[in-house]
Order: sequence, then structure tokens, then C-alpha cells
Amino acid sequence: MAKRIIVVGSGIIGASIAWHLAKAGAEVTVIEAGEPGGLATRTSWAWINASWGNPEPYFRLRERSMLEWRKVDRDVPGLSVNWCGGLIWDLPPRELDAFAAAHAQWGYGIRRAGRDDILRIEPNLKQVPDYAYHVAEEGMIEPLAAAQAMLAGAQAHGAQVLGHTHVKWLVEEGSRVAGVMTNEGAIHADETVVAAGGGSQQLLDSAGVTLKLTTPPGLLSHSKPAGELLRGLIMTPGLHVRQTAEGRLVAGTDFAGADPMGKAQEMAQDLHAKVQAMVKGAEAVELDFHTTGYRPTPADGFSAVGRPQDRGGLYAAVTHSGVTLAPAIGLFASAELLDGERDPLLAPYHPDRPSLK
Ligand SMILES: Cc1cc2nc3c(=O)[nH]c(=O)nc-3n(C[C@H](O)[C@H](O)[C@H](O)COP(=O)(O)OP(=O)(O)OC[C@H]3O[C@@H](n4cnc5c(N)ncnc54)[C@H](O)[C@@H]3O)c2cc1C
Repeated sequence: MAKRIIVVGSGIIGASIAWHLAKAGAEVTVIEAGEPGGLATRTSWAWINASWGNPEPYFRLRERSMLEWRKVDRDVPGLSVNWCGGLIWDLPPRELDAFAAAHAQWGYGIRRAGRDDILRIEPNLKQVPDYAYHVAEEGMIEPLAAAQAMLAGAQAHGAQVLGHTHVKWLVEEGSRVAGVMTNEGAIHADETVVAAGGGSQQLLDSAGVTLKLTTPPGLLSHSKPAGELLRGLIMTPGLHVRQTAEGRLVAGTDFAGADPMGKAQEMAQDLHAKVQAMVKGAEAVELDFHTTGYRPTPADGFSAVGRPQDRGGLYAAVTHSGVTLAPAIGLFASAELLDGERDPLLAPYHPDRPSLK
């Protein structure tokens, strides 16, 4: 008989887990407090990468997820990854070179690009550094649409998606978690996956599980749609900018955005002015709106994926860089839940590690 599995949360992590589980034959119910598609997810900059401040094991996990994105891109109807590549020069030269050398040694497709090369890749840049690094294999998605496509893909494999249904607590039977209590009543299952982003801590706590999270805010500015001005992702000191499928220039002080500290409109205007100073053709493009998202981030900054306290019936999947990591986490969580096999790449990221207590 198919395993009955509840996934709490329908952001990019819950959606990916649901899609992988449903495709593998599980009977899946996704439960979402708001509109399906997530909270952090819809406000993400959505850069798919294995760049930036990695220890090697975290790099390996992200690199694997980039590969898994290629499969998800092919297999999920209506999902489209833009494998546009990224240009990066957001560190002082010595640190930038050291970062690039370490990643190149690990096998990342990162290569040095001089001024002519940079302008060949991005002809509309107005401020061109002497050199940058380019990673052709990086990509971007429209995160809400991608999560919704995965949910639709899960539904095509028989999953149910319950929107506007709030999970109040995890239901316990002895030492097992046996399902959830929602505002509509109890729902029972063989396994309950907590993929509730910033809401995960509170839910796990209801079953006596501690998982320390932070949710730092990140502001991004969004321009009105324009014709093609940028081809890929641009990471410069104090400005990360990309152009969405709809043509909007979306920018942050870095990909994760900064704390608006009560000055969101002013910060968005500053960011947009930086975009206009950087991109030829953006001078006439107006700022449209800004978003502030809250990044679910386990306290030590790395993913938390697995069975907390080895509890029967319970699984947790909470992470920063969730847009990059969703396909690998979906695949690995599905294999662990259905076959009891834990992928070695998850070894450092068990939710019980002391730094999350
Ligand atoms: C500004 C910003 C920029 C970012 N940039 C990048 C980037 O460039 N690359 C990258 O890889 N990552 C990036 N991230 C991180 C990435 O977006 C997140 O890691 C990812 O979206 C997390 O997805 P999630 O599904 O865990 O959470 P969410 O999208 O927040 O989804 C969790 C869902 O759970 C639901 N929920 C919570 N509690 C309950 C409950 N009790 N009952 C029912 N439902 C519940 C919520 O309503 C929500 O819909 C960025 C994040 C932000 C905010």
C-alpha cells in the first residue's frame, strides 16, 4: 500500500518534496496556511548556484542540486529554468581570486573574464571592471511559478494540495508523529514532513523538537518590465541584479537583500538608481515596487534535513539557499522517507546537530 505522507508548506522545498514523493508513488497531501507557492520563495532572488562562501561539503550539495535542477527542468511540465550564467566581481580582488581558485579546484565551471569578454557576455553594462569571473552553468527561475509548477506536477501524480489550511500542531501517538491538527481538524498520515520555512520551528516545537532558526529580512527592488537589457545574473559590490522572464530588473545589495530597517522605499529607490547607473537602457525604466522576504535559516547557516530525534513519522526540511537546493532536498528526502536510504551528501546536515539546539 502507498505510504500516506503529509507535507506541511508549499514553498519551493515542500513543492519539490511533494513532487518527488508523488512521482515515486506515495499518497501525498500538501498542507499550506496561505496561497500555495510559499512565502520566502515568492520573494527570493532565485539564483541557482554553488557560489559564495562555501565549505566543500556544502558546495558538493549545491553542485548536485544544480544537476538535479536540469532533470526537474526537463521532467516538470511548465517549469523553465533560465540557464543564463552569472558574472561575479563582488569581492576585493584577492578574495575574489581565492574564491574562484578554490571553486575551480572543486570542479566548478568558473573562469576569468577580461573587459572585452565581460562586454561580450553583457553588452549593456556601463560600469565594467578590469576582470570578473563567469560561471556559464548558473541559472535562475521565477520562484513562485516554479513552486506552483512542481505542485501541479505532484497533483498530476495524485497529490492533494490544501491551501488556506493552517497546521496548528503535530499530532503524537506515543513516541511517533501520526499527523497534524489543522484549523479544519486532524489529518493522519504515516509520515509528516515539516517544510514550513520560517514556521517550522514552532511546529517542531509542538512535538518537543528544538530546531533553532533565524529569519533575516531581505529587501529587493523590482522595476517595471522592460525589453532585454541583461542576459544573466550580475553580482557586483553592493548590487546584485537580474532580469526576470517578465523583463523586471530585480536588485538587492546582494542576492539575499538587506534589512530595510524602516526605510524600505528609500532603500528600493537607492537600489534602483544603482541599477540605472550600471545598465545601459535602464535609465528610462521606472521602479515599480519592492519586496521584503524572510529567509528561513537554520542557526548555523546550513540546511537541516532529516528525522529529528530519530522520531518515527517525522521529517524536517528547512534551509537557506532553498531555491538552489530544492531539487536535491526533494530527491533525498523522498528516498529517505520511502526507502530509508540517506544520501551521504546530507551527512553534515542532520537537524539534530548541536549547533541547532
Ligand atoms: C530576499 C531573498 C533572496 C533569496 N535569494 C536566494 C537565491 O538567490 N538563491 C537561493 O537559492 N535562495 C535564495 N533565497 C532563499 C530561498 O528563497 C529560500 O531558502 C526558500 O524559498 C525557502 O523555501 P521554503 O519552501 O522552505 O519556505 P517558504 O517559501 O517560506 O514556504 C514555507 C511555507 O510554509 C507555510 N507554512 C508555515 N507554517 C505553516 C503552518 N503552520 N501550517 C501550514 N503552512 C505553513 C508558509 O505559509 C509557506 O508558504 C532567498 C530568500 C530571500 C528572502
